[in-house]
Amino acid sequence: MAEVCPKCGLPKELCVCEEIAIEDQQIKISTARRRFGKLITIVEGFDKDIDIRELVKDLKARCACGGTIKDGKIELQGDHAKRVRDIMIGMGYVAEMIDVDESNTHRKRGRGNR
Ligand SMILES: [Zn+2]
Repeated sequence: MAEVCPKCGLPKELCVCEEIAIEDQQIKISTARRRFGKLITIVEGFDKDIDIRELVKDLKARCACGGTIKDGKIELQGDHAKRVRDIMIGMGYVAEMIDVDESNTHRKRGRGNR
């Protein structure tokens, strides 16, 4: 069953719409602390040309962590901000367009381990 891209009409295997779109994405990667002090990594800024279901699958496998999609944002369990950035650059995302915000991680650090 060959899926056809709704944008260019080519079969998905030949379609490069996503590769082109990838270079336009202004991505923000941030970390946040959830209940019980668990860190999560949030990746956001995708437009609808990006298949984030595929992306989250890749990121989960390569960071060996759990993850989900929430309101168009990717949430990964644990602090993987730098790793995710490297992985995404490897996929064709533009380094200058990826903003990594680790302020939440650093601000809370140093409060001691409970
Ligand atoms: Zn296409």
